[in-house]
Amino acid sequence: MVFATLVLIAGLTSCSNPDTVPVKTAAKDSIAMNDSSGLPASDAEWKEKLTSEQYYILRQKGTERAFTGAYWDNHQKGIYKCAGCNSVLFASDQKFDSGCGWPSFSLPWDSTAVNYHEDHSHGMTRTEVTCRKCGGHLGHVFDDGPPPTNLRYCINSGAMIFVKEEK
Ligand SMILES: [Zn+2]
Repeated sequence: MVFATLVLIAGLTSCSNPDTVPVKTAAKDSIAMNDSSGLPASDAEWKEKLTSEQYYILRQKGTERAFTGAYWDNHQKGIYKCAGCNSVLFASDQKFDSGCGWPSFSLPWDSTAVNYHEDHSHGMTRTEVTCRKCGGHLGHVFDDGPPPTNLRYCINSGAMIFVKEEK
């Protein structure tokens, strides 16, 4: 199943049909949490570790098409980890339905989970959100979210791995 999914992803890099975008799988080698020494040191190593879509989003600041990711409509309870380094980034408790087509959160897992950068690409001024541990691009944060934070962390599904809460 994993092999089949990886083959699908490999053949999809230039495909824009949202019906065929597969659920992202975990990075090939998971790294123990809190151990940044195991992170890839080069672009080539990241390419080896990540699926093509994870690499496109995390390392090339790509954006998945709206309503195509695995998690925009995920309502299960659990946590969202970085697909690059396994850090916990967001939790289902902070997730809300924004209608924008990407997973949206009102807060990160904690204040040390992410970093912020001013982003002037595409003729806009936005605040980019990256994983604090591996530096991977996650998405952007906007100030049109629900109270009390009024924040909307608009995050690519492909940058994360969802881990369902065990009952
Ligand atoms: Zn990371």
